[in-house]
Amino acid sequence: MTNQYISIEEAFQKLELAQQLFLKNKNKFQIRPKDKIRKVAEILLKKEDEFAKIISGEMGKPVKESNAEIEKSALSCNFYADNCDEFLKDRNYSTENYDAIVRYEPYGVILGVMPWNFPFWQVFRFAVPTILAGNTVVVKHASNVPKSAQAIEDIFLEAGFEPGTYQNLSLESKNVAQIIEHPYIKAVSLTGSEKAGSSVASTAGKVIKKSVLELGGSNAFIVLNDADLDDTIEKAMNARFRNAGQSCIAAKRFLVQDGIYDRFLEKFKQKTEALKMGDPFDPSTDIGPLARVDLAEDLEKQVNKSVEMGAKLILGGKRDGAYYQPSILVDAKPGMPVFNEETFGPLAVIIKFKDFEEAVELSNSTSFGLGVSICTSNVEEALKKEHLFEEGSVFFNQLVRSDPKLPFGGVKHSGFGRELSEDGIREFVNTKTIVIAK
Ligand code: NAP
Repeated sequence: MTNQYISIEEAFQKLELAQQLFLKNKNKFQIRPKDKIRKVAEILLKKEDEFAKIISGEMGKPVKESNAEIEKSALSCNFYADNCDEFLKDRNYSTENYDAIVRYEPYGVILGVMPWNFPFWQVFRFAVPTILAGNTVVVKHASNVPKSAQAIEDIFLEAGFEPGTYQNLSLESKNVAQIIEHPYIKAVSLTGSEKAGSSVASTAGKVIKKSVLELGGSNAFIVLNDADLDDTIEKAMNARFRNAGQSCIAAKRFLVQDGIYDRFLEKFKQKTEALKMGDPFDPSTDIGPLARVDLAEDLEKQVNKSVEMGAKLILGGKRDGAYYQPSILVDAKPGMPVFNEETFGPLAVIIKFKDFEEAVELSNSTSFGLGVSICTSNVEEALKKEHLFEEGSVFFNQLVRSDPKLPFGGVKHSGFGRELSEDGIREFVNTKTIVIAK
């Protein structure tokens, strides 16, 4: 399906609809549409295979992973339907001089700018809490996933939401600034690259509107000498190769202590060689094509440049159109593209270190700060040093992953603000303080 962009005038009409609906329902914002959100979850699960095929067809994700993405989207709907009232209930205070209420009131129309790599999940984790908080939502989705974008709007309508609650804004990215500047738009949430994030946050800053940015990452996956090797390898494989490595929270740099390095490398290489690359619609496929040929070309350039600078390719490294072989590079150093930049594909960079201090330094020496994994059998000891990591999350003996129950987001160039959990639903509300003198 070729993307049919709408004009800026048509987009403004959609903003008008979103604004009028917001105003109409403003007085009853604390009656949250939980049943309709549960209905959204039901539709997602009922038509799971249909939606999974749309995802795989548009961006190449193996269909078993697309199914998992739909299930996770449904889970987040039910999680917020169950918990939104508690997360947003009034807080009451009383002193000798006054009674006070802290109330979470919706902002109005909120813009989401979303990426293609998890074309359903990213949208649901933004839109569901934002709507339950009483806002209306317009989403400019990535240009290479138009069917996913339209399917999501259709789901909200099928679930019984009034037109205007959730609208797909099929716009070119050059028009996004005009949408942010529109007086009806009260805030914007972007998940995407640093470049897009910087542009969106600059426009929002110029017109003094709030923004939440979920950007890229170059997560380290640290393996200490005392780690359980089999468990670590299994998690390391998942951390790097899910979604063919096209994930912000994927482990991109494996920092492995010298005492376990050789054993880790041997097993990791064996497992990587066994990955099956192929048709995303074949249920046995582990690695599909990258979402676009230019993305595979970018990865190829990062690898070639790093090899010129001294890194060694010990597995893979070949590209065929949008397919990039699962690959392993060793001897990478700070300054090389595969170390400093985000690598968005099936490439594992494995680096040896001596002691914990060196691991911390290597882990922190990129501009990103989304998350880090630390594998060790002595969590108690490592926990004492977790504050040394400049990250939005630290996962012990687990790959970094998002969970509706926990806040998710980054620091440094990985962005700001949080999604999911109580923190996520409070991003697009006015925390109002109401004081009644005694
Ligand atoms: P992208 O190129 O930044 O695109 C993301 C969205 O922003 C798309 O809708 C895109 O529209 C739009 N966009 C691009 N340039 C823009 C601009 N100058 N102004 C306004 N909007 C603009 O990113 P992507 O390639 O789709 O996604 C991959 C990136 O997202 C990676 O860096 C990944 O790490 C990051 N990501 C982060 C998270 C997280 O939670 N932290 C999650 C997933 C992905 P068009 O498609 O029309 O260009």
